[in-house]
Amino acid sequence: MRPWLRHLVLQKIVATWEAISLGRQPVPEYFNFAHDVLDVWSRLEEAGHRPPNPAFWWVNGTGAEIKWSFEELGKQSRKAANVLGGACGLQPGDRMMLVLPRLPEWWLVSVACMRTGVVMIPGVTQLTEKDLKYRLQASRAKSIITSDSLAPRVDAISAECPSLQTKLLVSDSDSRPGWLNFRELLREAPTEHNCLRTKSRDPLAIYFTSGTTGAPKMVEHSQSSYGLGFVASGRRWVALTESDIFWNTTDTGWVKAAWTLFSAWPNGACIFVHELPRVDAKVILNTLSTFPITTLCCVPTIFRLLVQEDLTRYQFQSLRHCLTGGEALNPDVREKWKRQTGVELYEGYGQSETVVICANPKGMKIKSGSMGKAVPPYDVQIVDDEGNVLPPGEEGNVAIRIRPTRPFCFFNCYLDNPEKTAASEQGDFYITGDRARMDKDGYFWFMGRNDDVINSSSYRIGPVEVESALAEHPAVLESAVVSSPDPIRGEVVKAFIVLTPDYSSHDPEALTRELQEHVKRVTAPYKYPRKVAFVSELPKTVSGKIQRSKLRSQEWRK
Ligand code: ATP
Ligand code: MG
Repeated sequence: MRPWLRHLVLQKIVATWEAISLGRQPVPEYFNFAHDVLDVWSRLEEAGHRPPNPAFWWVNGTGAEIKWSFEELGKQSRKAANVLGGACGLQPGDRMMLVLPRLPEWWLVSVACMRTGVVMIPGVTQLTEKDLKYRLQASRAKSIITSDSLAPRVDAISAECPSLQTKLLVSDSDSRPGWLNFRELLREAPTEHNCLRTKSRDPLAIYFTSGTTGAPKMVEHSQSSYGLGFVASGRRWVALTESDIFWNTTDTGWVKAAWTLFSAWPNGACIFVHELPRVDAKVILNTLSTFPITTLCCVPTIFRLLVQEDLTRYQFQSLRHCLTGGEALNPDVREKWKRQTGVELYEGYGQSETVVICANPKGMKIKSGSMGKAVPPYDVQIVDDEGNVLPPGEEGNVAIRIRPTRPFCFFNCYLDNPEKTAASEQGDFYITGDRARMDKDGYFWFMGRNDDVINSSSYRIGPVEVESALAEHPAVLESAVVSSPDPIRGEVVKAFIVLTPDYSSHDPEALTRELQEHVKRVTAPYKYPRKVAFVSELPKTVSGKIQRSKLRSQEWRK
């Protein structure tokens, strides 16, 4: 086929998905990502409508490598689907926990769940016995797939999880009593499998929120909310095409792994994965200079580490687009990254409950410190506590309009928690729990989570502004700003600061004064931290988010 004709065919298919994703075309009654997207790409690939780069590319940093085309991914995931439906005896609607390191099996089993209608529940590998028990009991999962390191933790609690029927192990070593060996079963499984015809509203995945502010909640997404909800942001914010190679360093247990999957594959892009047993700045930078990665996404925490390195020593020959999200990006980190690599950093904002809510699409003018504009089809507004829309410039709750029309790319509910679901709505809006303001150009400026905003002598102070001011000082590696009790002001700003190595032996009192003066200079003086503590690390969720709530409760308990 002529290249221009090939291009046309491709554009037409992806444009249809994109139009649905933007809310411009209705969501079809039936939709299954494996059948309606991946298998379509497999056929496009076969007909020569895609460059020869893989759909999936995995490396472990010590020489092992796996590359799958869409066709191979299709074949392997059909085999995996036969394992779920066969040896595991899973039926459509049954739930399965996936707690795997960044191993190719995570992507295979995710697709196998789609093919069989099994609802996937990803979890991060740092989960403890207690975390696993909470999640298995709450979700009533019938099966779990995990690796050698977690299997003993599962064994320790599985007797207390009566719904759990099968345990699948991803391991090259010998078998483990009570466990099915996934790799062995996969080798022997047949390649023929009929994909289940799922309805768009059928459940696809359950995510436990990061638990930054309390016990994790179960968020249920449908086949279409995730399967179609990321196509447009994948094209515009992540800026992916079929020749891109996209690396997101996220853990498989966090929503960002699904965001990557559902952004990249509809757009025909390759998902690149490094096993990355530990977050190591040098490994990340070497990987970026060794492989033809075009697009990189990391949480701000990782970018904060990367800019501490001498980036001019590396050459990122293929890198052309970088993204971040999950937490506020400090302007200073963005500027350092851009200055040293020449590549802009595009921030996005979203939640487990949603797809991308706000973003800086590629090419849009970036206002440093803003998380970008609302992403269609969401109508994002700043509302007061009664759900009334506030004018530009006023601080309030970030809210998504859900009445009269609930966006399709939205969670179904907090499972088994109608009170929490109801409490998240106010009038015509879903309330995100985050505070921000929108400027007259429609850019959103994050202030903090509702509970993180500090009220000092009736001044409202967002922790992120203070943290960003601190980040501009060379002594600060990272910081967390919270409220601390004060007999006169009620509460005051307290900063917990991790110092960069060059400053770790400085006199703490002098440094405190210097940092206080610095904040007064770079931002409105009333925001300066009246209390400062130097710490060796900050409490974080496993996804790398700072848990200000932990520091705050410590302060108030004292
Ligand atoms: P929990 O709801 O259990 O406390 P969580 O809210 O951290 O956990 P997620 O759904 O993973 O769980 O995270 C979404 C939240 O992360 C957002 O509500 C927001 O507070 C924060 N967030 C995400 N992206 C950004 C961003 N670009 N800037 C600032 N905050 C962000
Ligand atoms: Mg949340």
